[in-house]
Amino acid sequence: MTTFAELGLAPDILRALDEMGYATPTPIQAQVIPLALQGGDILGAAQTGTGKTAAFALPLIQRLLPFANNGTSPAKHPIRALILTPTRELAIQVEEAVQAYTKHVPLRSLVVYGGVNINTQIPILKTGVEILVATPGRLLDHVQNKTLSLSQVNTLVLDEADRMLDMGFMPDLKRIVALLPMQRVNMMFSATFPEEIRRLADSILNSPTFIEVARNETAVTVTQVVHPVHHERKRQLLAHLIKSRDLRQVLVFTGTKLGCNRLANELNKAGIHADAIHGDKTQQERIKALDAFKAGTIRVLVATDVAARGIDIEALPFVVNYDLPHNAEDYVHRIGRTGRAGALGEAISLVSESETRYLRDIEKLIGSTLPPVIVPGFEPGAADVPAFQSRAPRPERHGERERSTPRSKPATARDALFDAPYVPSDASRTDSAPALTRPTAKKQVAALFRSPVKPDSAGQ
Ligand code: AMP
Repeated sequence: MTTFAELGLAPDILRALDEMGYATPTPIQAQVIPLALQGGDILGAAQTGTGKTAAFALPLIQRLLPFANNGTSPAKHPIRALILTPTRELAIQVEEAVQAYTKHVPLRSLVVYGGVNINTQIPILKTGVEILVATPGRLLDHVQNKTLSLSQVNTLVLDEADRMLDMGFMPDLKRIVALLPMQRVNMMFSATFPEEIRRLADSILNSPTFIEVARNETAVTVTQVVHPVHHERKRQLLAHLIKSRDLRQVLVFTGTKLGCNRLANELNKAGIHADAIHGDKTQQERIKALDAFKAGTIRVLVATDVAARGIDIEALPFVVNYDLPHNAEDYVHRIGRTGRAGALGEAISLVSESETRYLRDIEKLIGSTLPPVIVPGFEPGAADVPAFQSRAPRPERHGERERSTPRSKPATARDALFDAPYVPSDASRTDSAPALTRPTAKKQVAALFRSPVKPDSAGQ
């Protein structure tokens, strides 16, 4: 197995990695680092959780070592590397990683993002930083205000390029690239490669090496569970799962900002400490919620896809899809937040009948079926049965409601599951704490990968 030293990294960087507990490079690091040290352009197909931040940051830092200095003059610290990310959260996280990797070398870094007072960023920019991590809009604000110069940038990294495209940053990206010197090293990472991303790569990168790591290659321990449930019972099911299984540090995804707030409020009412992050929250609110979540004072963080992008919590154990994403690739992004770098993780999806078409799309993308696991007391046929009280089936009402949702495809076995009349699975139980039926095929892990899992790459 390759070591970081064998990849050619400098002693001061190796020391920092050692202190962070990085023992061996992840697959993407092993592939990207040697190429990037030589100054080649790279196009990386990798999602969060694979170790891609270190894959681009470590060689970038090493190539700046000849410029590292303790001089006080700002002129000695021009911006030499620019790392662009779609969200503030990811920007913060990337810069934190850069800070840690540069602990023993005199290179300065800074993160700039929107939503906070621009004036607080200016004094630090004035003192000079070699590595700037930025979201595109705020970077352009600084360019316009002439509070920074990009004329000496020799390395450009575009992180999560597909997300930047989704978020409408393409015009900003083009403007930024036009401001950079022509002679530079470029690295671009994206989880997906729609046509527009390929065009962007063609226009920015110079004969890049394409490096692909299998989806979630490091996250080999993610267990995926699907619980079919009537949509009106989702909140109760979630509260039940959290309480009965004593789940902590649960990241829950909802489809809308409104749903996100509402769910956090309802969980709090149910005695489960929760907070919400979404696009309408201020940066300060998001940071506060994230810090509390990381510290464990908030048990559940409810988030929308955009707000959750870039969240990185060491060994995040549980991700819940409260609403299934309409875009199957978002599912892969979401569950990529758990089971990182070899840690255990579980991705739980609560699926109502109207979402079965999204489940089919997800299964198609990951190339595997996710067997449904019914939680006793929450059978999908039991539409409006209040939790913990009555288990009397009300199939006729369920039918009325659910059939108003058009099905995109003819009924399948899974649809039949949702239409099945409710049958109490254990009539003798008291209903106070229905047990969770564990997945029949617990380890659905291999299903996550497009290419077969290499057992010896597990946990790297
Ligand atoms: P990333 O995909 O860059 O967001 O990294 C995912 C997580 O894995 C982060 O928490 C990193 O600190 C961690 N990580 C990255 N590389 C390694 C490594 N070689 N060994 C252990 N942990 C790592």
